Amino acid sequence: MKLYNTLTRKKDDFIPRFEGKVSMYTCGPTVYHYAHIGNLRSYIMEDVLEKYFRYSGYDVKRVMNITDVGHLSSDGDTGDDKMLKGAKREHKTVMEIADFYTKAFFEDCRKLNIKTPDVVVPATSYIDEFIRVIAVLIEKGYAYEAGGNIYFDTSKIDKYYVFNDFREEDLEVGVREGVEEDSNKRNKADFVLWFTKSKFEDQELKWESPWGLGYPGWHIECSCISMKNLGEYLDIHCGGIDNAFPHHTNEIAQSEAYLGHEWCRHWFHVYHLNTNSGKMSKSSGEFLTVSLLEEKGYDPLVYRFFCLQSHYRKSLVFSYENLDNAAAAYEKLTARIAGILDGSGETDKAKFSELKKLFTDAMDNDLNTALAVTAVYDVLKADTNNATKLALIKDFDSVLSLGLIEAAKRSAEKNSGDPDEDIPAEIIELIEQRKAARKEKNFALADEIRDKISALGYVVTETREGTKVSVKS
Ligand code: AMP
Ligand code: ZN
Repeated sequence: MKLYNTLTRKKDDFIPRFEGKVSMYTCGPTVYHYAHIGNLRSYIMEDVLEKYFRYSGYDVKRVMNITDVGHLSSDGDTGDDKMLKGAKREHKTVMEIADFYTKAFFEDCRKLNIKTPDVVVPATSYIDEFIRVIAVLIEKGYAYEAGGNIYFDTSKIDKYYVFNDFREEDLEVGVREGVEEDSNKRNKADFVLWFTKSKFEDQELKWESPWGLGYPGWHIECSCISMKNLGEYLDIHCGGIDNAFPHHTNEIAQSEAYLGHEWCRHWFHVYHLNTNSGKMSKSSGEFLTVSLLEEKGYDPLVYRFFCLQSHYRKSLVFSYENLDNAAAAYEKLTARIAGILDGSGETDKAKFSELKKLFTDAMDNDLNTALAVTAVYDVLKADTNNATKLALIKDFDSVLSLGLIEAAKRSAEKNSGDPDEDIPAEIIELIEQRKAARKEKNFALADEIRDKISALGYVVTETREGTKVSVKS
């Protein structure tokens, strides 16, 4: 499989270190609010990647953290603590907020057919491990204490900016533009591993450490949770593109300083979901959730379909018009699948392999989900029996997870169960008029309307459930 690697800036052959096994790490959500559908775009695409690894025969172990401490409102070391902000907003404790939004996140994932990773670790459950790794970094000379905090010394690393070639002066621009400068730092790019001198006097969660009562920085959690659960060599690390710098850059710096060798070979980044006014973000306050889409009548899997129709390395613009188009396409597609549900015939093995190749070729080419979805249409059009088509669609959907078969069954039921579905508006109007006449006990008028309906080719019957209308046979 060819997969773009942010580290090498090209499509690489994805080759895990140990044959047949993939170790995969995903940056989890910061649980101070609901996940927005932009965050969920990242998790949908990572879910497809994980399922495709499994589909390709790999034994995958996937680990994800839950950020319930340490993430400040800027991805650097400035701004408010996000969890504290959430707690203040809702007059709850930080742990109550973390618990509530962690559950809400997994509920959204369930609705979007996103599988829960094999191991999920809240950052607050690994404090001892963070302290242990930070102590090693200090001992090895990669970290220093200043003004009560522990910092990572980026000047000790040969190449710190692994993803982008930033210049120190570029970072200084940010400082001039009003971002608070931390005078304790030896180098502009240094970052906090452990805070003791808290800017937040009301910081709720603090732990004893060799450097005093405090709490960890955000970046150290992912390095430690990954290394503890997946070992010294990680095959692939995932996240949204905004995580590449500084979060993933810092993860690499501290993990490789700790290990003394290369850590993760492959970096997978999902580009952003934007609105017409820019990136969707929680901090801007303007964001869409899965529940909101449901309230507006959208099936969450239509959103998944919308995401899969475009490539993960392109920004995706969300609008209701675009989502409506996806909803219409999804309905049409599943109605077509409804037509082959009988699965008649014997599976044609040769045809099956030929058509399956369309799907695997698309996925093997940098996870081209849009083409993989097109392969479903190619199957429907193909010159083969329904059994083969159905088997292929089930096979592809074990990765795409669009609920195609279930939706097709619902579509089939809708069209057979309720004959009222295809009744023209004119007849429905006449039925309403007849109902009103019967209510007023004007049976002569009611009969007259019945005759009119009959002349137009429809039969009206009264059942225990009410008036039913069907096409005259
Ligand atoms: P957070 O909850 O802020 O820690 O973010 C969770 C995940 O969502 C991270 O991998 C982010 O990189 C990703 N993310 C944040 N905003 C967007 C967006 N607008 N589109 C896609 N992914 C995003
Ligand atoms: Zn992370």
